Amino acid sequence: MAHPRFEGSFTQQEPIPDEAIAAATRVLQSGRLHRYNLGPGEEGEVAALEREYAQWQGVPYCLALTSGGQAIQIALRAVGVEPGDHVLTNAFTLAPVPGAIHAVGGKPLLVEIDDNLCLDLDDFETKAASGRAKVMLVSHMRGHLCDMERLVQICEHHNIQLIEDCAHTMAARWAGKRSGNFGIAGCFSTQTYKHMNSGEGGLLTSHDPDFMARATIMSGSYMLFERHGAGPALEHFDRPRFEQPNNSARMDALRAAILRPQLGALEANAERWNQRYAAVEDALRAASRLRLPSRPNQEYFVGSSIQFSLTDGDEARCQQLVGLCAERGVELKWFGHKEPHGFTSSHRSWHYMQAQELPRTDAILARLFDMRLPLTFSVADCRHIGQLIVEAAEAL
Ligand SMILES: *Cc1c(COP(=O)(O)O)cnc(C)c1O
Repeated sequence: MAHPRFEGSFTQQEPIPDEAIAAATRVLQSGRLHRYNLGPGEEGEVAALEREYAQWQGVPYCLALTSGGQAIQIALRAVGVEPGDHVLTNAFTLAPVPGAIHAVGGKPLLVEIDDNLCLDLDDFETKAASGRAKVMLVSHMRGHLCDMERLVQICEHHNIQLIEDCAHTMAARWAGKRSGNFGIAGCFSTQTYKHMNSGEGGLLTSHDPDFMARATIMSGSYMLFERHGAGPALEHFDRPRFEQPNNSARMDALRAAILRPQLGALEANAERWNQRYAAVEDALRAASRLRLPSRPNQEYFVGSSIQFSLTDGDEARCQQLVGLCAERGVELKWFGHKEPHGFTSSHRSWHYMQAQELPRTDAILARLFDMRLPLTFSVADCRHIGQLIVEAAEAL
């Protein structure tokens, strides 16, 4: 082997910042971990996080929740999805997305993706025009943003409400506008492998006060919604407080304390991720058999993972590439497995929903690879990893 084996860990995140550890310790010492367990006049960590995140995101309302999946579920309920309703979503996403649709009794109606791993907007237009669904849950899977202007246009034309799954696009933008601000709701995750790390956690944002009042009651606000950091005016709660069931999905003070200092570093971390992405991407350009998705000028992405595909070769060849990379210490995920391995992004492994024909997506996933880029890797590490992948591809 020309290059030495890579010894780093693809699942090792950076430590939680000292400032966040100090804030978490203060919460623990206070014994008041529940978001509504506050002293007189005290704002609390959760309300402060909501206020700060809403401001950062550039929206009036933010609600802190237990997970990104819960943020999606509550968003679906709050736009009025009822049992039996179809919900449009990408065929290429992660299991929590169809899982959330299923949890509210909805039926996923899957839309194809294109060669650049974005939603296939032609297929979306056809399915939107069919009138079968009133809600589109677009999942910006692996941080790839489709043409957001066209997406919004199609939704408006067919009277479809747009919810964004921004688990991989926190801090990303389309034509300067933050991902999450294109539809009625943005759903974010603060789970360990996303862009801020509280172990588990979610944030739901919106510009719509009635939507957010319904979501807040559903999160389990015990009618204490006046203690929120970025919530709608009290009159918006008049009806929802009697009509919305409690789904108990509140974020606790400990996680909020850990997240607030990370918010200040988010923009800088996005840049650090992108330096790492660029280092791998530059190296991979040398491999004639690997194709990288092209990224449009309007897209500002956060390169916390990278995807590429093999231009030729069958299943065995793809398996071989995973093996050759593993020998070199490079951990690739391959989306073409027949069976789910450690994660599920294949619609064929979601047996709880109606099987659907998605030939374009299937053909893309059959040769698609994915690699995480944790910030514990240096830019030099990423260059090295890129060279190892090229070497493995040449050895096929
Ligand atoms: C992680 C993830 C979610 C859900 O986040 P959790 O906080 O783990 O529930 C949703 N969508 C995608 C694409 C994800 O990767």
